[in-house]
Amino acid sequence: SVIRCDVLVIGAGAAGLMCAMTAGRRGRMVQVIDHANKVGKKILMSGGGRCNFTNTGTTAANFLSANPHFCKSALARYTPWHFIEMVERHGIAYHEKELGQLFCDISSKQIVKMLVDECQAAGVQIRTDCGVQKVERGADGFHVHTAQGHFHAASLVVATGGLSIPSMGATGFGYELARQFGHEVLPTRAGLVPLTLSGKHQERFNELSGVALPIEARCNGVEFRNSMLITHRGISGPAILQISSYWQPGDELRLDLLPGQDALGWLRRMKAERGAAELRTVLSEVLPRRLALRLCEHWLPDRLVRQIDEPQLREAADLLQNFPLVASGTEGYRTAEVTLGGVDTRKVSSSTFESQLVPGLHFIGEVLDVTGWLGGYNFQWAWACGHAAGSVA
Ligand code: FAD
Repeated sequence: SVIRCDVLVIGAGAAGLMCAMTAGRRGRMVQVIDHANKVGKKILMSGGGRCNFTNTGTTAANFLSANPHFCKSALARYTPWHFIEMVERHGIAYHEKELGQLFCDISSKQIVKMLVDECQAAGVQIRTDCGVQKVERGADGFHVHTAQGHFHAASLVVATGGLSIPSMGATGFGYELARQFGHEVLPTRAGLVPLTLSGKHQERFNELSGVALPIEARCNGVEFRNSMLITHRGISGPAILQISSYWQPGDELRLDLLPGQDALGWLRRMKAERGAAELRTVLSEVLPRRLALRLCEHWLPDRLVRQIDEPQLREAADLLQNFPLVASGTEGYRTAEVTLGGVDTRKVSSSTFESQLVPGLHFIGEVLDVTGWLGGYNFQWAWACGHAAGSVA
């Protein structure tokens, strides 16, 4: 038997559920299907279990895309304040962590429950364990063959997300479907992901595993000031995750280990005031001790500060504020928070998210070539385009 509906959404994640509730409220008959055994798995694991569900400072500048203007319309029409209004209506307590990032006080489960409750109130049917076998388009709409039968819908919304964390149900399904219908898919790669080191850097950093410090990471003209964590595999922490989205193999990466400070002025002052101290000693007062020792062992003059001449002071200051780090790669989709690249937005409407090649077909969320920074931007994008597509589909 055929299950008929107006809108079929594939993917019960952030974008899919938002789209479904929005279309349902308009009186559309909506079905959501997902191959996973439960809905919103990435929402559940997000923000360390507390879901960083939006960022109050969201603008188009917080996103990477080959088409940087594409995200503007949807973001302007569904703002963080719209989502916050729903969160408050559901009595979910939240707080701002830093830089406009809003987190649940208690659990990301509350966000998933809110989305599911809103879908139910709007008459949306959600089915899990429902893998898709085949999608066809006829004169009367879309025919979707699944593990739970044959669906027929006038509108089809692809909200299957990106490739990160395959163990959570991520697949390349959305990209394949896009290609099936003539869309281009821009090359994908892992974003918001720890970087790995090799050779000399790997050896020298290896023993520093566990060291954390505030830095400014710079790459390709972009910079992020936040903390870095050295791990046994390489480097991580918010500053590194952010810059990883702008880094590609071979690109130069620079770290300012004393962000916002004047290293040369400080070194000169140390020479004048603490000349009899070892450089490693004074450096340990402004950097984690293990890191300071390692720097003096391999990169900086390991002697009394008064024995360091002006050219060497300049060199040391430059190293501290512009440390050249050679990353060998990323940890890949296994630990990446997002997928860069995806369905080329140039053949998708930025206001309705409908395909310009196939009427009735929509792409929303991470499957598109739009990727946010760390800090709640990716969910805000999912909510915004889910809302936009749900308003017309
Ligand atoms: P998803 O939420 O990934 O949903 C896609 C859905 O499609 C899934 O339910 C999946 O099972 C389903 N699906 C996939 N393939 C198929 C198929 N073939 N058939 C049927 N169903 C399919 N962003 C933030 O803004 N804040 C955070 O705090 C945050 N934390 C994160 C933490 C982690 C560990 C990770 C991995 C990501 C985090 N993100 C965060 C990013 C955010 O989770 C994603 O950008 C967002 O979930 C994308 O929404 P989406 O609806 O496009 O895709």
